[in-house]
Amino acid sequence: MPGILCEHCTAACCRYIALPIETPEDRQDFDDIRWYLLHDGISVFVEGGTWHIYIETDCRHLLPDHRCGIYDTRPKICRDYTAENCDYHSGDYGWEHHFTTPAQLTEHMEQQLAAKKRRHVAGRNGRSARAKMGARQKSRRKRAAGGPPSPATDLRGIPLPDLEERG
Ligand code: SF4
Ligand code: SF4
Repeated sequence: MPGILCEHCTAACCRYIALPIETPEDRQDFDDIRWYLLHDGISVFVEGGTWHIYIETDCRHLLPDHRCGIYDTRPKICRDYTAENCDYHSGDYGWEHHFTTPAQLTEHMEQQLAAKKRRHVAGRNGRSARAKMGARQKSRRKRAAGGPPSPATDLRGIPLPDLEERG
């Protein structure tokens, strides 16, 4: 890991792994994530809309002096990582959310599901209002267009004689 900064750090970047997980959509999905959070050393964060599980675990090759024990053969992900904007000096990762307890996740879930329900109801009302509006406009257009006048009929449906024509 390049940069003199690493000499002052206790290898924060070698003490966890983070993996993307599926975005929870319903209570069952959230409950699965709650299960993750019941375990020590696990948290979940959302970055750029993508959910991740964060697992605190030291690399087996981290030496007591915080240096890499397999520096020459370290994985590419370690080679690519730089001290430019790393875990040491970037306490704020720009995460939208960071859940460290099941309670935080549950609170977020209730907000998300309530918002989803509101969007669903608004969408349904919008569709219904558009359908009614469309039907009214269609009926107005039909009336405006006129079309052949329907002949006047008596109660039995028999057309009445055209008195004007005769007169
Ligand atoms: S967290 Fe940053 S400063 Fe610390 S070892 Fe990793 S790259 Fe170096
Ligand atoms: S392989 Fe080396 S650089 Fe990579 S996480 Fe382990 S100790 Fe850190």
